Formats: sequence, C-alpha cells, structure tokens
Amino acid sequence: MNKKKLSQFIREIPKCDLHVHLDGSLRVPTLIELAGESNVNLPSYTEQGMYEKVFKGTYKDLPDYLQGFSYSISVMQTPENLERVAYEFAWDNINEGVCYVEVRFAPQFHVNRYMTVEDVVASVCRGLDRAKKEYNSGVSVTGGKKPEFEYGIIACAMRAIFPGIADYFDKFMLVHSYSSASRVGALASYELVLAMIKVRDMGYPIVGCDLAGAEYGFPANDHKDAYSLAHRNFFKKTVHAGEAFGAESIFQAITDLYADRLGHGYYLFSEDMITDPQITDKKDFISKLVQYIADRRITIEVCLTSNMQTNPAIGSLENHSFKKMLEHKLSTTICTDNRTVSMTTVSRELELAINHFNLTQSQIKNCIIYGFKRSFHPGTYNEKRSYVRKIIDFYEEAERKFL
Ligand SMILES: [Zn+2]
Repeated sequence: MNKKKLSQFIREIPKCDLHVHLDGSLRVPTLIELAGESNVNLPSYTEQGMYEKVFKGTYKDLPDYLQGFSYSISVMQTPENLERVAYEFAWDNINEGVCYVEVRFAPQFHVNRYMTVEDVVASVCRGLDRAKKEYNSGVSVTGGKKPEFEYGIIACAMRAIFPGIADYFDKFMLVHSYSSASRVGALASYELVLAMIKVRDMGYPIVGCDLAGAEYGFPANDHKDAYSLAHRNFFKKTVHAGEAFGAESIFQAITDLYADRLGHGYYLFSEDMITDPQITDKKDFISKLVQYIADRRITIEVCLTSNMQTNPAIGSLENHSFKKMLEHKLSTTICTDNRTVSMTTVSRELELAINHFNLTQSQIKNCIIYGFKRSFHPGTYNEKRSYVRKIIDFYEEAERKFL
C-alpha cells in the first residue's frame, strides 16, 4: 500500500486508544486560555512558545517529559475546566476515527477546596458524555456508517508522592506525618480505590486502575493492598511497568498487582535492567516471563513516540522492543500515551508502527482488534462482544475498500 493509501486506510478503520492521559492531551490554545483565566503562570502564552519550551517533541528523559503536566494539571482545577478539557479530548479522538478510548488521569491531583473525587470524575464524564451524545446522534452513526463512540475511565494511583506534588497529597502527608513516604503513598492509593468503588457504584464508567509516575526506585508492590482491593471489587488492572525499569517491575505488576495489561513494557527483554540479585539466570527469567505474558494474553500498551522521547538512548524506532514483542506473538495495542506532550495521534502511532516494523495486513488487524478485545469496556460482556463484533465488521469493510 502506498503512503497516501495507507493514511486513508488508517483514517477509515475503527481505532481505539487504551493508554492516553487526559492531562497530557490538552489542546495547547485551551491550556493558554485557561491559564490566563486561572492565573496560572506558563513559560509562554503563545502556541509556538509552548511548543518550543514545553511540548518540544524531544526530551532529555522521563522527568523532562513529565514537566508539561504541572501546567495542564494547574488549569484542570474547576468542574468547568475539567468538563471542557474532556469534551475537547473526546472530539479530538472522534475526529481521527478513534471510537473507543480509555482515558486515564489521577483524580487526586484535581481534588481541592471546591471539588471532591466524585466531583472530579463527574466533571470529566460530563465533558465526555456531551461529545459522545453529539457524535452518536449524528447521521454517520445513526445511519450505520460508523461505529458509535464509547469510553471508559482508568483511575491512576501514583507510584510515588512527595511534597509539592499536589495540594491533596501535601495534606495527606501532613496527616500521616509519622508514616514513611512509601507507606503514605500506599495509603493514598488505597484511599483512591475506595473512592473509585463508590464513584463506580454511583454509575460512572470507571473501568480500571493504573499505577503511574516515576517507576525506578518506587516498586509496584508498595501498592499491593490497593490493587488487591481493586481486584476484589472487580476492577480491571493496568500498570505502567517496564517504562523506566525492567522485567522484575513487570513481574511485580503481574504477580502482586494482578495486571491484565501493561503500560509500555518497553524493557521486558532487557537483561541489563534486572537488578534483583536473587534472579541469577536473567535469560531464563525473561524467557519464562515472556511466555507467561504471551500465554495469558496480557496486553502491552505500546506507546512508540513516548518511549523514544523518554528514552532517547533507543536511537531509532527500529531498535524499539516492539519488534521482539511481535516476534514473540505478544498481544499488543498501539497507544498515544499523551496526545499533546508526545505531539501525536493514534493515526500517527499506527503509521509509525506499520512503516517501521513492516507489519503485515494480518498483524495490523490483530493489533487493532486486540485493543478492542482486551479493552476494559464498561458494558456487560454481551454488550462488549457485540461492540467488538461491530468493530470487526467495520474493519473488514475498510479492508474490502482498500485492499
Ligand atoms: Zn502513560
């Protein structure tokens, strides 16, 4: 397929994004406008300036990459702003043919004097629902030409909390001042899951939990109790793992946190990233872990551009471990991570994957359909099945048109 035809094909097929952070996906003009209204200081008040200073396309490392979030989170502190950001986010996805998103964010970053966790989630859902209703009542959906837009919310707990990270966490640390930092982090995650159970039972589509933030030095099993609570309450689980640390972090995500999916998994195959002295045969450990992930169909949320930005040492995309994931027949889905911070879209990520890893038509199809199949769809199992069936039909129709 030539370049033009490929981008038309990608435009046409139904797509999903299972790993995308709301606070990393704000429209830049909106960020500037809301910062002006909320008296938030930005390093620049022009779009170009923000692209030069914050959303740069290339970054030194993960901490550099994460800087932009402080600005976006600062403007997402009122119900109106959260609703607007969520509404625009939904339309940005719809406009490129992404019909299913699992959008994630850390609700505790937005709790303040005026908003509880329930208010935060309700505001985001208002924005997403408004876009969903507008689109789904449009003629392309009602006329059966396009699949309807659907979404779920993944609540992020934070691997590490430290002073100044957010008002909520500062207060949390203050009232637990006799506990260690890791214990306070674990308690905050547990509190989040308790809140999510309540909010989900109020009817909001909270479909799963995630663990985000700095990975190295902050082990997943600190959050074991929170994830166990989530597990016992039928939440699905994903964990950022193997983004800045290796196979042992992925192992913890699966064994201690019951991960159904893995965010990134980039360092899965890297023997040199294993530091646990008890793992003496690193090759054997990785081989068994890979087999387990493959066999259990634990899906890896691959974010190519984001990985290149947070790990510049990868050099070129061809060196990305996605190649090995394909060789080992792992279940993968292509995601953006952050539409604005990574300056990307689902279509662009798919195009990169197809062009740089020479994906065959059946590999492309598997990757797309696996995303929908391994999604944490908010409906019943039968509803999910019929949605996925519909997606496959739309996909095959696009195949007939283009292939
Ligand atoms: Zn992420």
